[in-house]
Amino acid sequence: MTSRNPMTHPPFSTCCSIVPPYLLDAVTRAGDTDLKAVAEQTLHHDHELRTTRTSTTATRAASGPQDGYTTVHRDIYDAANSTTLPGSEVRAEGAPPTPDVAVNEAYDGLGDTWTFYDQVFNRNSIDGRGLGLIGTVHYGRRYDNAFWNGEQMVFGDGDGTLFGRFTASVDVIGHELTHGVTQSTANLVYSDQPGALNESISDVFGVLVKQRTLGQTADQADWLIGAGLLMPGVQGRALRDMLHPGTAYDDPRLGKDPQPADMAHYVQTTSDNGGVHINSGIPNRAFALAATTIGGEAWKGAGQVWYDVLTGSQITAQCDFATFAQLTVDAATSRFGASSPQADAIRQAWTTVGVLGGGTAATRSATQPAASDPLVRVARSGGFAGVVREATVRLADLPDPDAATWRSLLGSGAFQEFEAAAPAESPVRDDFCYTVSCPAHDVDASLSGQTLPDHVRDLLERTLTSGRPTVE
Ligand SMILES: [Zn+2]
Repeated sequence: MTSRNPMTHPPFSTCCSIVPPYLLDAVTRAGDTDLKAVAEQTLHHDHELRTTRTSTTATRAASGPQDGYTTVHRDIYDAANSTTLPGSEVRAEGAPPTPDVAVNEAYDGLGDTWTFYDQVFNRNSIDGRGLGLIGTVHYGRRYDNAFWNGEQMVFGDGDGTLFGRFTASVDVIGHELTHGVTQSTANLVYSDQPGALNESISDVFGVLVKQRTLGQTADQADWLIGAGLLMPGVQGRALRDMLHPGTAYDDPRLGKDPQPADMAHYVQTTSDNGGVHINSGIPNRAFALAATTIGGEAWKGAGQVWYDVLTGSQITAQCDFATFAQLTVDAATSRFGASSPQADAIRQAWTTVGVLGGGTAATRSATQPAASDPLVRVARSGGFAGVVREATVRLADLPDPDAATWRSLLGSGAFQEFEAAAPAESPVRDDFCYTVSCPAHDVDASLSGQTLPDHVRDLLERTLTSGRPTVE
């Protein structure tokens, strides 16, 4: 056990000072020795929290060394039905179970997921660098969701009528943590096809965590996501069925499972970030079909191939279904051989769901954004605090003057000129750095804030605040 812990508190811990610093400052000047010592300690502690938070965020932004734990390190917090994160710590790594079942489920689920990535893929935590795992339970009141906010997992209790607590299914915990794996690897954009792939990859590794924890082969597995979440009386088996998308539930209060099982039924929508939780049914089914055809323990065949692609050098943040499918066929070929059962099964699975083969061209033209309405990704990093912000937007979703300005900038080669004009050496200290990417216009520019015209910098800032979320 050589756990190193340079980060004694998680990134959000600045919220726990009830007494403000200016008041503590006054106490240290007032004269009472005991009070002064306590106040100084508190001030020092708060300062440590603030600087820890800043340096941690900056480190993550720079993809530098991370938390550096060499064994699993979990911290479970209780939001006590508030929406303040992370809440109060209720179970640290190595501590015994608490009377609260949600706390223990979160703790165990994080451990199962960490062990899965460690033992199957030799991956040290979700970022590959020993990131400490943080989970908050009892988030909000009757909150019907769980999410990954970029730094930690958050679980609601459910409404108690349709959904129970979101810690109850280990595949949900594996799903949320895998968003962290994707974030630190392929970093798939969270909208449309790359977003649906992002969702599907979380389902894939979430369900593999469950299967490995239960010791199930592909044939024995139920391929359900969130089977333990639905309350008795709900007409359904789970939230999603990877092998039979669209059949997980059909309930008068919930409606019917909207997932398509193949490309012929791909759902065009602007809601749900372009249907990321809907169209993920298609790659989900491709995975489940491939895994059940290959047989045995799914993480060793199809799971290994999906992991190779996710962590490989070929995948891009804008990857669509057809590109991803071909990458899995290529990865299966290089790992198992071109005519291996694994490569055959994977190729056949993608053909069955209509992603590879005859339907591909029509599918792509139907689902790729038109050139006149491209996706633009803006990210801002750097700055004194080192906080990264990013947004992916469709120009049509922006207010008109901004959309028009974007179109003229993208079409005129302006971003390439801004990039070329920035001084390569001696950048402004604490300056913001922006990246603007728009594959439709062949733009992928890194820009430094101080060298941009004001109206362009303002446009980027407005776009950052109007963007869709990139994680859920
Ligand atoms: Zn998700």
